[in-house]
Amino acid sequence: MNYYSTRNRDEKVSAKEAIFRGPADDGGLYVPETIPAFPYEDFLNSKYEELAAAVLNVFFEDFDLAYLKESAEKAYASFEAEGTVGYHELDGITVAELFHGPTAAFKDFALQMLPYLMAGSAEGRRVRILTATSGDTGKAALAGFQDVENTDIFVFYPAEGVSTVQKLQMTTQEGENVHVFGIRGNFDDAQRTVKALFRDEELREAGRASGIEFSSANSINIGRLVPQVVYYIYSYLELVRRGTVDMGEKVDVCVPTGNFGNILAAMYAKRMGVPFGDFICASNKNHVLTDFIQTGIYDTHRDFYKTTSPSMDILVASNIERFLQLLLKNNDKIREKMESLQETGRFEIPEDLIRRAKLVGYWSTDDEGEARIKEVFETTGYLMDPHTAVAYDGIKKHGSKRHVLLMSTASPYKFPETVADALSVEKGEDEKALLESIREKSHMDIPKELLDVFEKPVRFEGAIAIDEMAQVVREGFDD
Ligand SMILES: *Cc1c(COP(=O)(O)O)cnc(C)c1O
Repeated sequence: MNYYSTRNRDEKVSAKEAIFRGPADDGGLYVPETIPAFPYEDFLNSKYEELAAAVLNVFFEDFDLAYLKESAEKAYASFEAEGTVGYHELDGITVAELFHGPTAAFKDFALQMLPYLMAGSAEGRRVRILTATSGDTGKAALAGFQDVENTDIFVFYPAEGVSTVQKLQMTTQEGENVHVFGIRGNFDDAQRTVKALFRDEELREAGRASGIEFSSANSINIGRLVPQVVYYIYSYLELVRRGTVDMGEKVDVCVPTGNFGNILAAMYAKRMGVPFGDFICASNKNHVLTDFIQTGIYDTHRDFYKTTSPSMDILVASNIERFLQLLLKNNDKIREKMESLQETGRFEIPEDLIRRAKLVGYWSTDDEGEARIKEVFETTGYLMDPHTAVAYDGIKKHGSKRHVLLMSTASPYKFPETVADALSVEKGEDEKALLESIREKSHMDIPKELLDVFEKPVRFEGAIAIDEMAQVVREGFDD
């Protein structure tokens, strides 16, 4: 199966080339020619790695199944939950804990796998990975690509826009090939600038002259998206295994959403045959997506807020472009919409198209999220992170009639300040002590990686201006 750009159907490449490039040269995103039907029922008793290899194999036919199997086994070996995803039952809701990987956020599912896909696609070419992050992609990408041959990685995070733990995870990253920069700006600034660098022909020529190509570890890379489809299929089958639903019975899915990658993967799973009902898109106070879903108008002219769910502090959600592909199909139209977004900060589509895709949206304030953390902890003893809490609040606002799969995207220990407030745990100066205090109250294990960051030396300090990003990515160029 080939991949083509959302902005031009004639711009076709193989799966390997799509992964290697990241975004398409015309600024569009690669999408599969078709979303293949998948006999998910046959995988009821498969291990996570087996399912992953099978799903990747239908999207990425130019890789050997044996290579995908071996890669999936290596990629998911370090996940601490039995079955890779952890599960927890609440009333009418199954929480799918996607944070048991090495960096304690769901990004590990794709970013532990992507280096193998990239290595298989690069065929010896040297690649420089550029990554904009709202906090979790950066660390997960660094952990995935650390000391990978023929590869180096540059990560840009909003210096004032991530939690202390998230920041330490990135600034203490080990490895010879990693480069980490705080920027004086927000995630949208980082993402917009990285996208512009991909389209900077002079820069890319200079890279090629030095034998270096650029690629992306953001969810604009199709190699990020497809591994995320796997845990939706696996989780649906888990509900069947647990007897929560019968095979074929519909369930709703709720996803705390930022760049629209995670929830889009759920929609891909539905198109492959998995019986999902409503898709509940949960947002925080930066609720550009909620408004889009309700009106068909995507409008970035609004204030940007820093919230207690920072990984969702995003106004320009890249994967909306792939969502438009599912709805509109006409690539000239998508190009027009995206040009409109770039030039005017706004575009519009008929809202009934969104409704037909069974997408609904809700948003929550920080206070509502914190109240949910407190309520769920006090009534059930279960502790959620602030992003998961926003999703939980979205489910309650929607009033789902079906069973709901709630995608829990991060460990609560990545956001200890907010969690401590919700639990009325006293906060001192010492961040590490705060993690211990939360553990005493919640009896939930602290991911080892998060304790380790307090012991490691900080390697990357300070922050750069947005217009310095173009310069730092030229490191090692021959000019
Ligand atoms: C990245 C992230 C999100 C948003 O996911 P998207 O795929 O960008 O929509 C939500 N929660 C957490 C904890 C994240 O790290």
